[in-house]
Amino acid sequence: MKITSVEFIKSAVWPPQYPPATLPEVAFVGRSNVGKSSLINTLVGRKNLAKTSNTPGRTQLINFFAINEKFSFVDLPGYGFAKVPQSVKKDWGDMMEAYLKERQSLCLVVFILDIRRDPNADDLSLRDWLEHYRTPYLYVLTKTDKLSNNQAIARKRTIEKTLQVSPEKKPILFSAKTQKGKTDIWDFLKNHLASLPAGKP
Ligand code: GDP
Repeated sequence: MKITSVEFIKSAVWPPQYPPATLPEVAFVGRSNVGKSSLINTLVGRKNLAKTSNTPGRTQLINFFAINEKFSFVDLPGYGFAKVPQSVKKDWGDMMEAYLKERQSLCLVVFILDIRRDPNADDLSLRDWLEHYRTPYLYVLTKTDKLSNNQAIARKRTIEKTLQVSPEKKPILFSAKTQKGKTDIWDFLKNHLASLPAGKP
């Protein structure tokens, strides 16, 4: 994908603050430290577009970007900080659920997992929400450069089993370090965006 423009639109927490739903939207979500910022930055070829906000307990924001003036990337706050108060966990859940439920222009969620880690309860809840709201999603397994090919295949199988991944939802293996999987992800996104019914959103 040739990226001709990347524009920060705005940050928001609740639906009334979201920008107008004029472009089809691809949202990125995963556990904190999973490599979400690195993935977004690699896809758009910018060093610091998405920034890690690794401050547990701080209110986190949903960041909206316009890509090529054709579609949006949305950086959703990471979850699963080890020591956050219950109130922050609840805010995160409410914010995510509102976004998944209300955002008409949302056409795909990129669900990011660290290939070395087993999916936890938060990952399973996210999977359940995506199924519940019938949101199309794509699994991306990050940091694959940290494993051998054989290890990566084994880890992928374990993760697929834990999440009960259906055969048509094959996860894409990715590395921000080697850029492995970047083309596969763009091919998927291009096909997916092209398959949307005309006039949506
Ligand atoms: P975020 O919190 O999900 O946005 O994660 P970041 O993108 O900030 O990455 C967290 C840490 O993992 C950083 O130290 C990154 O350099 C590292 N990281 C992210 N992706 C990769 C990857 O594909 N390979 C390797 N080796 N490290 C990565």
